[in-house]
Amino acid sequence: MSIPQSIPATLIPGDGIGSEITTAVVEILDALGKPFAWEIQQGGVAAIEESGDPLPLTLLDSIRRTRLALKGPLATPVGGGFRSVNVRLREEFKLYANLRPARTLISGGRYEDIDIVLVRENLEGLYVGFEHYIPIDGDPHAVAISSGVNTRAGSRRIAEFAFDYALKHARKKVTIVHKANVLKALTGMFLDTAYEVAKKYEGKVAADDRIVDACAMQLVLKPWQFDVILTTNLFGDILSDEIAGLVGGLGMAPGANIGVDAAIFEAVHGSAPDIAGKGIANPLALLLAAAMMLDHVERHDAAKNLRAAIDGTLRIDGVRTGDLGGTATTRDITQAILRRL
Ligand code: NAD
Repeated sequence: MSIPQSIPATLIPGDGIGSEITTAVVEILDALGKPFAWEIQQGGVAAIEESGDPLPLTLLDSIRRTRLALKGPLATPVGGGFRSVNVRLREEFKLYANLRPARTLISGGRYEDIDIVLVRENLEGLYVGFEHYIPIDGDPHAVAISSGVNTRAGSRRIAEFAFDYALKHARKKVTIVHKANVLKALTGMFLDTAYEVAKKYEGKVAADDRIVDACAMQLVLKPWQFDVILTTNLFGDILSDEIAGLVGGLGMAPGANIGVDAAIFEAVHGSAPDIAGKGIANPLALLLAAAMMLDHVERHDAAKNLRAAIDGTLRIDGVRTGDLGGTATTRDITQAILRRL
């Protein structure tokens, strides 16, 4: 049997806990036979310190070449400062689909048997950040205005992605989440377009819809009614954190940004500055993102082995980091997973 070749991929360690969790993930992937040949590139605050630019050209060139990246969290200043590097990467590589699966891996939490996939439109909506102030009476920031932008083409593209995903992964239903009762143009068009796409899948994938506030409540009351959720950029941002909370928090939530020109895999969580450098960060969200990346490059066996090792480590060995109620360090959980591989 031939040994599969390592696939060139860009690795961005990121800020805060980024280097701690990427080190763990690389070590574990190495034990799976080095599926990726890494090009290591700095981005975010780490890159500013190195080159003065949070999104250096060398990083962009690397992703242009590899079209595949694993990204640690990148810090973004609140209010002023530079624009989110995460958002710029999504725009640069037209990463229009944000895929965030959440599955219960640890029993005994608040909810058992959660298995929800959130598909978030990643380039449009209120997230475009078209904002300005109107000065009045000497106050330069007297009025703040933000415009959301949804396009028919963008809505259709993400809806097709969600229904295709549902079909391919034997999912039964897509729930379209919107606020069409108030944002009638912006999210009404998204809803109408998604239902148009749903017609093509009739008999194969069911479709229904929820207003975002009701969806947020129902996720807490009865999350099992949801299968695939399809929603706009800002609602997806908020609901994906809520859904991560159902399965044990941000330390368990992976994400993929998939587009025309590239695919970038990451954890849903940020750089966790409060625990950075302490060696206690949970690497599982980034590791689960690496499993999604293995599936993306059709290395399904390696992805399956990796998920099984994570399952065993949590459920049977009971090795858990602090965010999951345990006392294990990043190193402990890395070693435990390596033992299972
Ligand atoms: P955060 O996700 O970094 O942290 C929220 C809380 O969760 C903190 O208490 C943190 O300690 C904990 N936490 C997060 N990840 C963890 C892990 N792997 N293991 C254990 N605990 C973990 O959110 P924040 O504090 O709002 O943001 C910090 C920075 O990260 C900001 O600059 C923000 O812009 C950035 N951010 C980046 C991304 C990304 O790169 N995709 C996503 C979200 C936030």
